[in-house]
Amino acid sequence: MTFQTYRNIIVGILISAMIIKAIFDMRNDRKKSKQNKKRMEDFVQQKMKNDYPEIHNKLLNERVTVTENKIYITNQKQNLRNIDFELLPVFEFKEEKPVIEIYEDDKLIRKFVIDTKNDNPDLTGQFFHSSIRINRNSSVQIDGIISDNPDTHEENGEGIRFQPFFLSDREEMNASLVGKGMFQRGLHYAGLISSGNTRLICICDFCSASFSVQFYHAGFSEIQYFYSSNSKETLLVRYEAIKDLPAQTQNEIDPNKLAEVERQLPKTKDGSFKYYNNFCCPKCSKPFINFQENKEIRPNEYYVNVYINEKPISYVKNNEA
Ligand SMILES: [Zn+2]
Repeated sequence: MTFQTYRNIIVGILISAMIIKAIFDMRNDRKKSKQNKKRMEDFVQQKMKNDYPEIHNKLLNERVTVTENKIYITNQKQNLRNIDFELLPVFEFKEEKPVIEIYEDDKLIRKFVIDTKNDNPDLTGQFFHSSIRINRNSSVQIDGIISDNPDTHEENGEGIRFQPFFLSDREEMNASLVGKGMFQRGLHYAGLISSGNTRLICICDFCSASFSVQFYHAGFSEIQYFYSSNSKETLLVRYEAIKDLPAQTQNEIDPNKLAEVERQLPKTKDGSFKYYNNFCCPKCSKPFINFQENKEIRPNEYYVNVYINEKPISYVKNNEA
């Protein structure tokens, strides 16, 4: 090799190194400027809330209003974005099975039917102590507790958590959550145990119907669960009941061992119990949690879901039955 060639190689390496460093610096700067922006927003937000509560309240009133069972959110004005708002309205229910409608700038965007539990089948005359949070990233979180008192509610009372969603300026985020799990959709929070007295109201990605779901923490109970083909039935199996049964949060799933486990499960009305069966919309049977296409989320979906007022089936070994 000539000196010329050596020189070209060394220059080439130097240029590549410089490009890599520039890309690295750029990414770092972007990260830092994002953090700074967030810090600045936090500061302004706190300052406004503490020192100018009347301005904060004025903006809050512009951002969200509640009339009867309708929630109106304004999302056209830029100055209302990038601020976290929380409203704590108490709804008075006037129907057996109330419906909460959510409007974004006069357009109906979500409709949550409050299906009732068998032990409290008529909500007429009861109150829903709610929290409506409209976050600066344009996500909306609503939850609350039912009470027969307009002024107070029990901490561990009958709770409802509505499926969070993004407003139209972040519509792509809603699309990215189609088929994903309860944690990704913000219906459960990792590290925070959801009260068993709370039910979730989900919205089908396909038919837009709302449906209510009750859940159990399967990890604490040392059980694995299996949905039937259209998830109308749910089977619970104790860890020790079947050899090689996958535990909750066990990430390595051996397909051969799993097939052997599934072979031992009882038949269902609609097909079979499978570890990767989807949790479906009860109205149109399309997948809500699409485990078939998102197998990697299955081990960490450790809350087992059942439709409201339905009971899961417990697995009993053939020779024990
Ligand atoms: Zn549906």
